[in-house]
Amino acid sequence: MKKHNFYAGPSILSEFTKEETAKAVMDFAGTGLSVMEVSHRSKEFQAVMDEAVALVKELLEVPEGYEVLFLQGGASMQFCMAPFNLMKKKAAYLNTGAWSKKAIKEAKFFGEVVEVASSADANFNYIPKGYKVPSDVDYFHYTSNNTIFGTEIFEDPDVDVPLIADMSSDIFSRPIDISKYDLIYAGAQKNLAPAGVALVIVKKDALGKAGREIPTMLNYQTHVDGGSMFNTPPCIAVYAALQTLKWYKQRGGIAAMQKDNIEKAKILYDELDRNKLFNAVVPDPADRSVMNICFVMTEGKENLQDDFLAFAGTKGIVGIKGHRSVGGFRASTYNALPKESIQVLVDAMKEFESKH
Ligand SMILES: *Cc1c(COP(=O)(O)O)cnc(C)c1O
Repeated sequence: MKKHNFYAGPSILSEFTKEETAKAVMDFAGTGLSVMEVSHRSKEFQAVMDEAVALVKELLEVPEGYEVLFLQGGASMQFCMAPFNLMKKKAAYLNTGAWSKKAIKEAKFFGEVVEVASSADANFNYIPKGYKVPSDVDYFHYTSNNTIFGTEIFEDPDVDVPLIADMSSDIFSRPIDISKYDLIYAGAQKNLAPAGVALVIVKKDALGKAGREIPTMLNYQTHVDGGSMFNTPPCIAVYAALQTLKWYKQRGGIAAMQKDNIEKAKILYDELDRNKLFNAVVPDPADRSVMNICFVMTEGKENLQDDFLAFAGTKGIVGIKGHRSVGGFRASTYNALPKESIQVLVDAMKEFESKH
């Protein structure tokens, strides 16, 4: 049976990414060797890294003065690297959920953290509005897409201080104005590659100003100078990332991805608003994530939750169980998820409704 993969991360990758990576596992760039067993200093692998960096710059229209890095340690390492490198004394954070909280926890190792607003009062089911970012902070950090709670910030914020974003689960889903940011980071395993690599886009001018010693591996400058090859990079993850980037380009780039993503999300949210058995978790349509769509059984129908999970399974639907902190269901609708999979889920919800 065809599987419809709604996992939140690691998550669906394009067929192109999987096929091309599988080929390179057996024979990489005509070397007769696997991409897993070739020196990262070989000209063949250097070409992979160079092309991946160039394609990120092209697809996201990264302006002059920025570096694109592929680092290890996931987005979670960035929670620490960002303040280590960019915080002098004080930083502002927006708390929109579990990932924001983890970022805040790490930042506190390096200085004072001002939490400008939080949506904890409603289990993070909305995006706080109208908050003020103090002018005396070294930067403002926010999480653009809240993978667990299903909210998303679609506009690049206008602030008077340097801006940092964790875009792990919505990078490449829509165009972004990179020039507004000093730093953007994203774990690869949602919209780019298998786990093992994080994408970092950093403004060169922002580095070297924190006024503290930084251990070599945690210093962005090390990786800028080393072209993401100060030490051995996760070669296969970078190779797979390159395939996904090529696929995005073939598909018409990031604007085309955005159009598809909006259409896909609308099909599911429309059904959630219509279906008597299910409700979207995020009430305000303006805050509803286009990448992670959280929903629950309507009041009084909670006892049908396990039945629906099992029923969905018979249709090939995989990975829709909600995160343990929210419960219910979560359909992750990343770039590589075809519209057909959304349709299968919506049809399953309709059929389930007619039976109950
Ligand atoms: C998945 C995720 C992370 C954590 O990524 P790791 O690579 O596992 O460290 C951080 N932030 C957001 C928004 C995420 O979705």
